[in-house]
Amino acid sequence: MRRKAINIKVGDINIGSESEITIQSMLNAKSDDVEANVRQAVELEQNGCQIIRVAIPNMQAVQLIEPLKNAVNAPMVADIHFDYRLALECVSAGIDKIRINPGNIGGEDRVKMVADACRAANVPIRIGVNAGSLEKEILSKYGAPCAEALCESALYHVSLLEKFDFHNIVLSIKSSDVATMVRAYELTAQKCDYPLHLGVTEAGTQQMGVVKSAIGIGSLLLKGIGDTIRVSLTADPVAEVIAAKNILKALGLRRESIDIISCPTCGRTKVDIITLANEAEQRLANVKKPLTVAIMGCEVNGPGEAKHADIGIAGGNGCGLLIKKGEIIRKIPGERLIDELVAEIEKM
Ligand code: SF4
Repeated sequence: MRRKAINIKVGDINIGSESEITIQSMLNAKSDDVEANVRQAVELEQNGCQIIRVAIPNMQAVQLIEPLKNAVNAPMVADIHFDYRLALECVSAGIDKIRINPGNIGGEDRVKMVADACRAANVPIRIGVNAGSLEKEILSKYGAPCAEALCESALYHVSLLEKFDFHNIVLSIKSSDVATMVRAYELTAQKCDYPLHLGVTEAGTQQMGVVKSAIGIGSLLLKGIGDTIRVSLTADPVAEVIAAKNILKALGLRRESIDIISCPTCGRTKVDIITLANEAEQRLANVKKPLTVAIMGCEVNGPGEAKHADIGIAGGNGCGLLIKKGEIIRKIPGERLIDELVAEIEKM
Protein backbone atom coordinates (compact mmCIF):
# COMPACT_ATOMS: atom_id res chain seq x y z
CA MET A 1 0.00 0.00 0.00
CA ARG A 2 1.30 3.40 -0.96
CA ARG A 3 1.80 5.93 1.84
CA LYS A 4 -0.71 8.76 1.48
CA ALA A 5 0.89 11.95 0.23
CA ILE A 6 -0.72 15.18 -0.93
CA ASN A 7 -0.55 16.10 -4.60
CA ILE A 8 2.09 18.60 -5.70
CA LYS A 9 2.05 19.89 -9.25
CA VAL A 10 5.38 20.61 -10.93
CA GLY A 11 4.67 22.00 -14.38
CA ASP A 12 2.41 19.32 -15.90
CA ILE A 13 3.71 16.55 -13.65
CA ASN A 14 1.93 15.45 -10.48
CA ILE A 15 3.91 14.20 -7.49
CA GLY A 16 1.97 12.38 -4.78
CA SER A 17 0.39 9.08 -3.86
CA GLU A 18 -2.32 9.36 -6.52
CA SER A 19 0.27 9.57 -9.30
CA GLU A 20 2.92 7.30 -10.78
CA ILE A 21 6.41 7.48 -9.32
CA THR A 22 8.34 9.94 -11.43
CA ILE A 23 11.98 9.93 -12.51
CA GLN A 24 14.26 12.89 -11.97
CA SER A 25 17.85 13.70 -12.80
CA MET A 26 20.13 16.70 -12.69
CA LEU A 27 22.18 18.42 -15.37
CA ASN A 28 25.93 18.41 -14.81
CA ALA A 29 27.08 20.60 -17.71
CA LYS A 30 28.89 23.79 -16.68
CA SER A 31 26.47 26.51 -15.55
CA ASP A 32 27.85 29.05 -18.02
CA ASP A 33 27.46 26.77 -21.03
CA VAL A 34 23.86 27.24 -22.17
CA GLU A 35 24.22 25.03 -25.24
CA ALA A 36 25.66 22.09 -23.29
CA ASN A 37 22.89 22.35 -20.70
CA VAL A 38 20.18 22.46 -23.35
CA ARG A 39 21.73 19.49 -25.18
CA GLN A 40 21.88 17.48 -21.96
CA ALA A 41 18.32 18.35 -20.95
CA VAL A 42 17.01 17.21 -24.35
CA GLU A 43 18.96 13.97 -24.06
CA LEU A 44 17.63 13.36 -20.55
CA GLU A 45 14.07 13.94 -21.66
CA GLN A 46 14.50 11.63 -24.66
CA ASN A 47 15.68 8.92 -22.28
CA GLY A 48 12.65 9.19 -20.00
CA CYS A 49 13.61 11.82 -17.43
CA GLN A 50 10.37 13.48 -16.28
CA ILE A 51 11.68 16.27 -14.05
CA ILE A 52 15.04 17.96 -14.68
CA ARG A 53 17.04 19.84 -12.06
CA VAL A 54 19.66 22.46 -12.81
CA ALA A 55 22.13 24.09 -10.42
CA ILE A 56 21.71 27.85 -10.16
CA PRO A 57 24.88 28.94 -8.32
CA ASN A 58 24.72 32.64 -9.32
CA MET A 59 22.60 35.27 -11.07
CA GLN A 60 24.16 34.54 -14.45
CA ALA A 61 22.93 30.95 -14.26
CA VAL A 62 19.31 32.18 -14.04
CA GLN A 63 19.69 32.82 -17.78
CA LEU A 64 19.72 29.06 -18.33
CA ILE A 65 16.06 28.77 -17.41
CA GLU A 66 14.47 30.29 -20.50
CA PRO A 67 16.40 28.28 -23.12
CA LEU A 68 15.95 25.10 -21.07
CA LYS A 69 12.20 25.67 -20.78
CA ASN A 70 12.03 26.29 -24.52
CA ALA A 71 13.95 23.10 -25.30
CA VAL A 72 12.12 20.51 -23.17
CA ASN A 73 8.60 19.79 -21.95
CA ALA A 74 9.84 18.29 -18.68
CA PRO A 75 9.45 20.71 -15.76
CA MET A 76 12.66 22.38 -14.62
CA VAL A 77 13.79 22.59 -10.98
CA ALA A 78 16.29 25.22 -9.81
CA ASP A 79 18.80 23.96 -7.26
CA ILE A 80 19.65 26.87 -4.96
CA HIS A 81 21.79 27.11 -1.89
CA PHE A 82 21.71 29.98 0.61
CA ASP A 83 20.73 32.90 -1.65
CA TYR A 84 17.04 33.80 -1.48
CA ARG A 85 17.46 36.34 -4.31
CA LEU A 86 18.34 33.51 -6.69
CA ALA A 87 15.08 31.80 -5.73
CA LEU A 88 13.09 34.99 -6.42
CA GLU A 89 14.82 35.47 -9.79
CA CYS A 90 14.21 31.87 -10.81
CA VAL A 91 10.51 32.21 -10.02
CA SER A 92 10.38 35.36 -12.16
CA ALA A 93 12.20 33.49 -14.94
CA GLY A 94 9.46 30.83 -15.02
CA ILE A 95 11.02 27.95 -13.13
CA ASP A 96 8.64 25.09 -12.24
CA LYS A 97 10.05 24.17 -8.84
CA ILE A 98 12.73 25.36 -6.42
CA ARG A 99 14.99 23.19 -4.33
CA ILE A 100 16.07 25.27 -1.37
CA ASN A 101 16.30 24.83 2.40
CA PRO A 102 14.49 27.77 4.04
CA GLY A 103 16.60 27.45 7.19
CA ASN A 104 19.70 28.38 5.19
CA ILE A 105 18.59 31.59 3.52
CA GLY A 106 18.64 34.05 6.42
CA GLY A 107 15.87 35.56 8.51
CA GLU A 108 12.14 34.98 8.44
CA ASP A 109 11.54 37.97 6.17
CA ARG A 110 13.51 36.21 3.42
CA VAL A 111 11.68 32.93 3.94
CA LYS A 112 8.41 34.84 3.67
CA MET A 113 9.53 36.54 0.45
CA VAL A 114 10.41 33.20 -1.15
CA ALA A 115 7.20 31.54 0.11
CA ASP A 116 5.08 34.44 -1.17
CA ALA A 117 6.76 34.48 -4.59
CA CYS A 118 6.41 30.70 -4.95
CA ARG A 119 2.79 30.79 -3.84
CA ALA A 120 1.93 33.55 -6.32
CA ALA A 121 3.52 31.61 -9.19
CA ASN A 122 2.29 28.20 -7.95
CA VAL A 123 5.87 26.97 -7.70
CA PRO A 124 6.51 24.14 -5.21
CA ILE A 125 9.59 24.00 -3.02
CA ARG A 126 11.61 20.88 -2.39
CA ILE A 127 13.35 20.88 0.91
CA GLY A 128 16.45 18.75 0.45
CA VAL A 129 18.09 17.67 3.69
CA ASN A 130 21.46 15.95 3.38
CA ALA A 131 23.56 14.26 6.05
CA GLY A 132 26.45 16.52 5.08
CA SER A 133 24.63 19.80 5.69
CA LEU A 134 22.74 19.36 8.95
CA GLU A 135 22.18 22.33 11.26
CA LYS A 136 24.87 22.59 13.96
CA GLU A 137 22.35 22.44 16.80
CA ILE A 138 20.71 19.29 15.46
CA LEU A 139 24.06 17.67 14.82
CA SER A 140 25.27 18.40 18.35
CA LYS A 141 21.97 17.20 19.85
CA TYR A 142 22.29 13.80 18.16
CA GLY A 143 26.10 13.65 17.90
CA ALA A 144 25.96 12.25 14.34
CA PRO A 145 23.92 12.67 11.15
CA CYS A 146 21.63 9.80 12.14
CA ALA A 147 18.15 9.18 10.77
CA GLU A 148 16.47 11.01 13.69
CA ALA A 149 18.67 14.07 13.10
CA LEU A 150 17.86 14.11 9.37
CA CYS A 151 14.16 13.80 10.05
CA GLU A 152 14.23 16.58 12.66
CA SER A 153 16.08 18.85 10.24
CA ALA A 154 13.55 18.20 7.47
CA LEU A 155 10.63 18.98 9.78
CA TYR A 156 12.39 22.14 11.01
CA HIS A 157 12.67 23.45 7.43
CA VAL A 158 9.05 22.48 6.80
CA SER A 159 7.93 24.46 9.88
CA LEU A 160 9.60 27.59 8.53
CA LEU A 161 7.47 27.43 5.37
CA GLU A 162 4.31 26.36 7.18
CA LYS A 163 4.64 29.44 9.38
CA PHE A 164 3.81 31.42 6.24
CA ASP A 165 1.03 29.05 5.31
CA PHE A 166 3.09 27.49 2.53
CA HIS A 167 2.36 23.79 2.00
CA ASN A 168 3.37 23.24 -1.62
CA ILE A 169 6.30 21.13 -0.43
CA VAL A 170 8.23 18.02 -1.48
CA LEU A 171 10.81 16.57 0.91
CA SER A 172 14.04 14.66 0.53
CA ILE A 173 16.13 13.33 3.41
CA LYS A 174 19.25 11.91 1.87
CA SER A 175 22.32 10.19 3.25
CA SER A 176 25.11 8.33 1.50
CA ASP A 177 24.61 5.58 4.07
CA VAL A 178 21.82 3.37 2.76
CA ALA A 179 20.48 2.16 6.12
CA THR A 180 20.41 5.73 7.51
CA MET A 181 18.67 7.02 4.42
CA VAL A 182 16.00 4.31 4.58
CA ARG A 183 15.34 4.91 8.28
CA ALA A 184 15.25 8.71 7.83
CA TYR A 185 12.60 8.44 5.11
CA GLU A 186 10.59 5.96 7.18
CA LEU A 187 10.57 8.33 10.15
CA THR A 188 9.68 11.35 8.05
CA ALA A 189 6.97 9.42 6.20
CA GLN A 190 5.18 8.85 9.51
CA LYS A 191 5.33 12.48 10.53
CA CYS A 192 3.93 14.37 7.56
CA ASP A 193 1.96 13.86 4.36
CA TYR A 194 4.20 15.74 1.95
CA PRO A 195 5.41 13.78 -1.09
CA LEU A 196 8.87 12.28 -0.71
CA HIS A 197 11.67 12.56 -3.26
CA LEU A 198 13.86 9.49 -2.71
CA GLY A 199 17.57 9.23 -3.25
CA VAL A 200 20.85 7.97 -1.83
CA THR A 201 23.14 10.95 -1.98
CA GLU A 202 26.75 10.68 -3.18
CA ALA A 203 25.96 7.08 -4.05
CA GLY A 204 29.22 6.72 -5.98
CA THR A 205 30.29 5.68 -9.43
CA GLN A 206 27.96 3.85 -11.76
CA GLN A 207 28.32 0.26 -10.61
CA MET A 208 28.20 0.72 -6.82
CA GLY A 209 25.96 3.78 -7.04
CA VAL A 210 23.29 1.79 -8.83
CA VAL A 211 23.50 -0.98 -6.21
CA LYS A 212 23.19 1.46 -3.29
CA SER A 213 20.36 3.36 -4.97
CA ALA A 214 18.49 0.20 -5.87
CA ILE A 215 18.65 -1.00 -2.27
CA GLY A 216 17.82 2.35 -0.67
CA ILE A 217 15.16 3.55 -3.09
CA GLY A 218 13.88 0.05 -3.77
CA SER A 219 13.35 -0.96 -0.16
CA LEU A 220 11.37 2.23 0.52
CA LEU A 221 9.24 1.84 -2.60
CA LEU A 222 8.46 -1.74 -1.58
CA LYS A 223 7.01 -0.34 1.64
CA GLY A 224 4.91 2.16 -0.32
CA ILE A 225 7.13 5.10 0.62
CA GLY A 226 8.28 7.53 -2.07
CA ASP A 227 6.69 9.53 -4.86
CA THR A 228 9.57 10.61 -7.09
CA ILE A 229 13.13 9.27 -7.37
CA ARG A 230 16.58 10.37 -8.34
CA VAL A 231 19.46 7.95 -8.70
CA SER A 232 22.56 10.00 -8.03
CA LEU A 233 25.67 8.76 -9.84
CA THR A 234 29.14 10.07 -10.55
CA ALA A 235 28.41 9.46 -14.22
CA ASP A 236 26.49 10.76 -17.22
CA PRO A 237 23.00 11.72 -15.94
CA VAL A 238 21.44 9.57 -18.67
CA ALA A 239 22.81 6.60 -16.68
CA GLU A 240 20.84 7.89 -13.67
CA VAL A 241 17.62 7.87 -15.67
CA ILE A 242 18.22 4.37 -17.03
CA ALA A 243 19.01 3.09 -13.51
CA ALA A 244 15.85 4.77 -12.14
CA LYS A 245 13.75 3.19 -14.89
CA ASN A 246 15.27 -0.19 -14.14
CA ILE A 247 14.55 0.15 -10.41
CA LEU A 248 10.89 0.90 -11.15
CA LYS A 249 10.76 -1.95 -13.67
CA ALA A 250 12.34 -4.42 -11.23
CA LEU A 251 9.70 -3.53 -8.64
CA GLY A 252 6.87 -3.92 -11.16
CA LEU A 253 6.04 -0.22 -10.84
CA ARG A 254 6.60 0.50 -14.56
CA ARG A 255 5.25 -1.98 -17.06
CA GLU A 256 5.66 -0.07 -20.28
CA SER A 257 8.65 -1.97 -21.68
CA ILE A 258 10.06 -5.47 -21.98
CA ASP A 259 11.21 -7.17 -18.79
CA ILE A 260 13.80 -9.83 -19.53
CA ILE A 261 14.30 -12.74 -17.20
CA SER A 262 17.24 -14.95 -18.04
CA CYS A 263 18.83 -17.91 -16.33
CA PRO A 264 22.38 -17.76 -14.95
CA THR A 265 23.33 -20.71 -17.21
CA CYS A 266 24.94 -23.85 -15.82
CA GLY A 267 26.62 -27.06 -16.95
CA ARG A 268 23.54 -28.04 -18.96
CA THR A 269 23.74 -25.01 -21.26
CA LYS A 270 24.65 -25.84 -24.87
CA VAL A 271 24.01 -22.46 -26.53
CA ASP A 272 25.68 -19.16 -25.70
CA ILE A 273 22.89 -17.79 -23.49
CA ILE A 274 24.96 -14.87 -22.21
CA THR A 275 25.38 -13.49 -25.75
CA LEU A 276 21.75 -14.28 -26.64
CA ALA A 277 20.35 -12.58 -23.52
CA ASN A 278 22.44 -9.47 -24.13
CA GLU A 279 21.43 -9.37 -27.79
CA ALA A 280 17.75 -9.75 -26.85
CA GLU A 281 18.04 -6.97 -24.27
CA GLN A 282 19.62 -4.65 -26.83
CA ARG A 283 17.15 -5.40 -29.63
CA LEU A 284 14.12 -5.13 -27.37
CA ALA A 285 15.26 -2.00 -25.52
CA ASN A 286 12.87 0.30 -27.36
CA VAL A 287 9.89 -2.03 -27.61
CA LYS A 288 7.08 -0.44 -25.61
CA LYS A 289 5.12 -3.55 -24.68
CA PRO A 290 4.52 -4.74 -21.11
CA LEU A 291 5.85 -8.25 -21.75
CA THR A 292 8.05 -10.57 -19.74
CA VAL A 293 10.53 -12.35 -22.00
CA ALA A 294 12.45 -15.39 -20.78
CA ILE A 295 15.85 -16.42 -22.12
CA MET A 296 16.59 -19.83 -20.62
CA GLY A 297 19.57 -22.10 -21.09
CA CYS A 298 18.13 -25.56 -21.47
CA GLU A 299 15.17 -27.55 -22.74
CA VAL A 300 14.91 -29.49 -19.47
CA ASN A 301 14.28 -26.80 -16.89
CA GLY A 302 13.94 -23.75 -19.17
CA PRO A 303 10.29 -24.19 -20.22
CA GLY A 304 9.17 -24.78 -16.63
CA GLU A 305 11.17 -21.86 -15.26
CA ALA A 306 9.90 -19.63 -18.08
CA LYS A 307 6.24 -20.58 -17.81
CA HIS A 308 5.26 -17.32 -16.11
CA ALA A 309 6.79 -15.29 -18.94
CA ASP A 310 4.72 -14.10 -21.91
CA ILE A 311 7.22 -15.48 -24.38
CA GLY A 312 10.67 -16.96 -24.28
CA ILE A 313 13.29 -19.28 -25.63
CA ALA A 314 14.90 -22.34 -24.07
CA GLY A 315 18.27 -23.32 -25.52
CA GLY A 316 18.96 -26.86 -26.75
CA ASN A 317 21.90 -28.48 -28.52
CA GLY A 318 22.62 -25.92 -31.27
CA CYS A 319 18.95 -25.03 -31.37
CA GLY A 320 16.19 -23.82 -29.08
CA LEU A 321 12.48 -23.87 -28.35
CA LEU A 322 10.21 -20.89 -28.77
CA ILE A 323 7.72 -20.85 -25.90
CA LYS A 324 4.64 -18.65 -25.69
CA LYS A 325 2.43 -18.47 -22.59
CA GLY A 326 3.91 -21.75 -21.35
CA GLU A 327 3.32 -23.63 -24.66
CA ILE A 328 6.11 -24.78 -26.96
CA ILE A 329 5.48 -23.15 -30.36
CA ARG A 330 8.36 -24.51 -32.44
CA LYS A 331 12.01 -25.54 -32.59
CA ILE A 332 14.44 -22.97 -34.04
CA PRO A 333 18.10 -23.30 -35.15
CA GLY A 334 20.48 -21.56 -32.68
CA GLU A 335 21.56 -18.79 -35.03
CA ARG A 336 17.92 -17.75 -35.67
CA LEU A 337 16.72 -17.83 -32.05
CA ILE A 338 16.77 -14.10 -31.32
CA ASP A 339 15.55 -13.07 -34.81
CA GLU A 340 12.48 -15.28 -34.46
CA LEU A 341 11.89 -14.26 -30.85
CA VAL A 342 11.98 -10.58 -31.80
CA ALA A 343 9.70 -11.19 -34.82
CA GLU A 344 7.18 -13.01 -32.60
CA ILE A 345 7.24 -10.19 -30.04
CA GLU A 346 6.60 -7.64 -32.78
CA LYS A 347 3.39 -9.53 -33.60
CA MET A 348 2.18 -9.48 -29.96
FE1 SF4 B 1 20.80 -24.43 -16.06
FE2 SF4 B 1 18.67 -24.86 -17.61
FE3 SF4 B 1 18.36 -23.58 -15.26
FE4 SF4 B 1 19.58 -22.34 -17.25
S1 SF4 B 1 17.45 -23.03 -17.23
S2 SF4 B 1 20.30 -22.48 -15.13
S3 SF4 B 1 20.66 -24.02 -18.26
S4 SF4 B 1 19.01 -25.71 -15.57
